[in-house]
Amino acid sequence: MSKTISINAGSSSLKWQLYKMPEEEVIAKGLIERIGLEDGVSTVKFNGQTETETTDIPNHTIAVKILLEDLLRLNIITSYDEITGVGHRVVAGGEIFKESALIGEKEIQEIEDLSPLAPLHNPAHVAAMRAFQEVLPEVTNVAVFDTAFHTTMPAVAYRYPIANKYYDNYQVRKYGAHGTSHQYVAQEAAKLLGKPIEDTKIITCHIGNGASITAVKGGKSVDTSMGLTPLGGIMMGTRSGDLDPAIIPFLIDREPELADAEAIRNIFNRESGLFGISEKSSDMRDIIAGKEEGDAKCTLAFEMYVDRVKKYIGQYVAVLNGVDAIVFTAGVGENSVPFRQAVLDGLTWFGIDVDPEKNVFGVEGDVTKPESKVKVFVIPTDEELVIARDVERLKTK
Ligand code: ADP
Repeated sequence: MSKTISINAGSSSLKWQLYKMPEEEVIAKGLIERIGLEDGVSTVKFNGQTETETTDIPNHTIAVKILLEDLLRLNIITSYDEITGVGHRVVAGGEIFKESALIGEKEIQEIEDLSPLAPLHNPAHVAAMRAFQEVLPEVTNVAVFDTAFHTTMPAVAYRYPIANKYYDNYQVRKYGAHGTSHQYVAQEAAKLLGKPIEDTKIITCHIGNGASITAVKGGKSVDTSMGLTPLGGIMMGTRSGDLDPAIIPFLIDREPELADAEAIRNIFNRESGLFGISEKSSDMRDIIAGKEEGDAKCTLAFEMYVDRVKKYIGQYVAVLNGVDAIVFTAGVGENSVPFRQAVLDGLTWFGIDVDPEKNVFGVEGDVTKPESKVKVFVIPTDEELVIARDVERLKTK
């Protein structure tokens, strides 16, 4: 029996999902947290049960060992031979990786060298890859890149209007992120439209804690809101999104201690977005609850977020010169009816006619009236499944 593990490794966590392939059946999933800290926690969900174990997990190799031992201990597998492939989500693939790749020593080195583009993530991916190579040396490892889908963007979209030397010397350009998700939901949207994907113009809105919007033409990314790093684009939970770059020197002139790369990164990555404006939470549920209670800061945070999403959709209607469907996905996009409603209420001019009876909690698929010129779909994203499919496609064993 063929089983594939899909891995999403962060600096201190490792999320995993075990699939029976090619059936695409999820057998078990889990989360290992607090890697490198005291009292690591490993949670496994299978057959409707949840098992939690607290133990020291000093590094990713130990995390991988715990994961694999759990699979045996809980009788989820009877032998490691059942595992025929491991797929790793990789945040930054730079200009090198245009598609998913089999992982050998060369690829690991390249992913490590791309760490400046994803300093928290790429080193963790490399640690997880090395751990699997050590513990399961015979098993194929595949890397699936968040940036690969966006490598089809034309230079006109990915270059920044700054001196060429910064691109030539340091490859400062737009790479985007969430590519696996944008690609998956665009493909699902084309199916719902009943058209070959080559004939479609789709705007995909991945709105979770991190959030990005992509213009997809004929199934290919032609522009996306995130930039050199996942800080660019729309406002997010704790990230600012796009800003006037002059804000940085303006602040440094007034608070000289901010003349430090880490301090600046912190302000715009961790202290901004919904959290910065509401001073309450980065979670859209809390923001909406605050707004409903009349909290002015939560109301402003919500309205600013909606405004930024609307403007990006508007830009991308222009980039695509039209649009067949707008897709909402990820935590906020899939679950928040008030958020979707507020965005779509401002886009009626484009020919969007939402059906309030369809735009409800838990909906999947079309939320517009049959006569709506532009369709709006809610499509749950499934990055883990795309990873497992790519392993299946590329594995040699
Ligand atoms: P990540 O970017 O971390 O993968 P997710 O896509 O899981 O995030 O999205 C997480 C976010 O989804 C939470 O921070 C929360 O704001 C939002 N969310 C989840 N459920 C709801 C809901 N019912 N209404 C509004 N927001 C929600």
